[in-house]
Amino acid sequence: MTVLYIGVYGASGFGKEVMPLVRQQFPTLNKDHFVFIDDGQTGIILNGYAVLGYTEFLSKPSKHKAVTIAIANSQIREKLVKRLTEDHVQHLDIQASNTIILDEVEIGEGSLLCPFTCLTSNIKIGKFFHANIYSYVAHDCVIGDYVTFAPGAKCNGNIHIEDHAYIGTGAVIKQGTPDKPLVIGKGAIVGMGAVVTKSIPAGVTVIGNPARILEKS
Ligand code: UDP
Repeated sequence: MTVLYIGVYGASGFGKEVMPLVRQQFPTLNKDHFVFIDDGQTGIILNGYAVLGYTEFLSKPSKHKAVTIAIANSQIREKLVKRLTEDHVQHLDIQASNTIILDEVEIGEGSLLCPFTCLTSNIKIGKFFHANIYSYVAHDCVIGDYVTFAPGAKCNGNIHIEDHAYIGTGAVIKQGTPDKPLVIGKGAIVGMGAVVTKSIPAGVTVIGNPARILEKS
């Protein structure tokens, strides 16, 4: 019989929030099938689950291993995805039981949708998207790969968010229009509580209301 062995990569605060969501998705498996994986701290027990190093996780006899990456930093996520893919570990899609997804939503592999998140209608999202608690994506948005929404991030209609962008806690992004979507450029960071009223270029950090580019000093 194939024994499924499931890892939450990242034994930190966020990892502790993600583990119960993963458990909910596999109600027939007992606790022994679930572990944390971490490259920093190993050999401890966290919330009753073993914390293993990656090599130790791989060495477990179960042939069928699956992982979700509970680390907000998108560059680290991409690095770990490569590693897991090379080692033929399956990528999990995790969704809280109260997540709301309406019509015509397309979402890539490895997504992590936390409690009270909402994806409304006609939305396209790339791979390894993180939507932390209470964040939402409204109609006609297009979101790239490895995008991260912190808690309560509000993405209104007709917004395009490019790969690796990070939307901070409680940030609000003003809606665009079908002919002129508001664009958050690749790798941009929207600071906590920022109110974004117009498109922002790739690679910058914006803060405040209305959001302005934070110049590097
Ligand atoms: N981590 C890891 N491999 C990496 C980078 C980070 O295992 O390549 C672990 C790190 O040791 C820490 C967790 O992931 O335990 C990330 O925690 P952090 O507080 O930085 O991120 P957050 O929980 O806010 O996403």
